[in-house]
Amino acid sequence: MYEVDFMKTSLLQELDSQHFRHPFTDHKQLSKAGSRVISKAENVYLWDSDGNKILDGMAGLWCVNVGYGRQELIDAATEQLKQLPYYNSFFQCTHPPAIELAKILADITPANLQEVFFTNSGSEANDTVIRTARFYWELNGEKNKNIIISRKNAYHGSTLGGASLGGMPGMHKQGGLPLPNFAHIDQPYSFEQAPNIDLEKFGLQVANQLEDKIQELGEERVAAFVAEPIQGAGGVIVPPASYWPRIKEICNKYDILLVVDEVICGFGRLGKWFGSDYYQLEPDLMPIAKGLSSGYLPIGGVMISKRVSDLLSEKGEEFTHGFTYSGHPAACAVATANIKLMQKENLVERTKDDVGPYLQKRWQELGDHALVAEARGTGLIGALELVKDKSSRQRFDNKGTLGFECRKNCIENGLVMRSVGDTMIISPPLVISHDQIDELIEKAAIALDKTYKQLLT
Ligand SMILES: *Cc1c(COP(=O)(O)O)cnc(C)c1O
Repeated sequence: MYEVDFMKTSLLQELDSQHFRHPFTDHKQLSKAGSRVISKAENVYLWDSDGNKILDGMAGLWCVNVGYGRQELIDAATEQLKQLPYYNSFFQCTHPPAIELAKILADITPANLQEVFFTNSGSEANDTVIRTARFYWELNGEKNKNIIISRKNAYHGSTLGGASLGGMPGMHKQGGLPLPNFAHIDQPYSFEQAPNIDLEKFGLQVANQLEDKIQELGEERVAAFVAEPIQGAGGVIVPPASYWPRIKEICNKYDILLVVDEVICGFGRLGKWFGSDYYQLEPDLMPIAKGLSSGYLPIGGVMISKRVSDLLSEKGEEFTHGFTYSGHPAACAVATANIKLMQKENLVERTKDDVGPYLQKRWQELGDHALVAEARGTGLIGALELVKDKSSRQRFDNKGTLGFECRKNCIENGLVMRSVGDTMIISPPLVISHDQIDELIEKAAIALDKTYKQLLT
């Protein structure tokens, strides 16, 4: 145990405030409130340094799919660190844990994906996507086919490439982003954009924006389209059924690479191994991370289709890209143990047939609450839209304030539920039980009540 394990919360908070700059955090706000110190976890629960027990409705940051404290993953890391803690895979070297994981990934991902490029995160995976897609077209003799289209409000990571590819206005505002040669179309967000039209018609309309954008830019300029099956951090945006088939058609028609970002939807979240299985997509490139290791160690990757890998190999030109820790042995061993554990415990089927439908049924009940205009979700992911008036779907003034209050009320009541503006979202570990789902719903309902009462006073 370390020295800090025995420190009082107030001292930890003071040191935290003095020395630790946090990601995605307003530090003026943080130093006033003091950060919450999470000091241990087991199964679907967290404990803070004051001993409060909290149900983790977000699986960390959408990643701890097998739950906390799994001995199989701990053992895999320990054994691998003893055997070979580090070696690289540059310069014609490799090692068994990376090979084993690559083979398992080829087996469980869609059939056309037979190769993986390892990274340490989802952001690096998306940077790898950008470089790979452009390199592919260069090798194909189409150097100018380098524009990548993604969607407004999408999250694809935080590096310069990932943030440019993403469509978050708050991120583009800082530091002169996006970089050149990125374009963005609307997300299929029916709740905000299409309250009064037919859902399937709306799905086609937003998908057709891709065709419009390709025609505007010129087919010979567009390298790839990148999107999540269901948009996660953007607010759990579930597309209408008509959306993905039309997107696929457009990518084929104009010979644009289809990139499906599976960083959140992958590894069982939707009740299939991948969102691409759920929507029957055949990605040319498929970034993965988060659930790949259930967050126990940092690892990500890009699954590469035969079409792309064949060309990359055939031309005999080195792809000048990679990371010191690409395919880190311990991270690979943990990811392999994680996938094997998911297989052994049938976590994907269980999400599809058992806990997923149960969560969705109970989640719909929250839709009856006075603040909630829509409850939606698939598998073990869900969202609630908070509004002032249910019938007109009118939002409260000061967008995001209500969501922020509701999130605070949740955590004070022992539940992590995140807010994106005034949309509340959950993504619990796949190992969650029926009783724990009941607890989650009950706590969410109490937080909604409390938020509602605060509005009335
Ligand atoms: C989290 C996330 C990323 C970035 O992953 P990091 O590991 O945080 O770099 C990329 N894409 C999606 C869809 C994500 O949710």
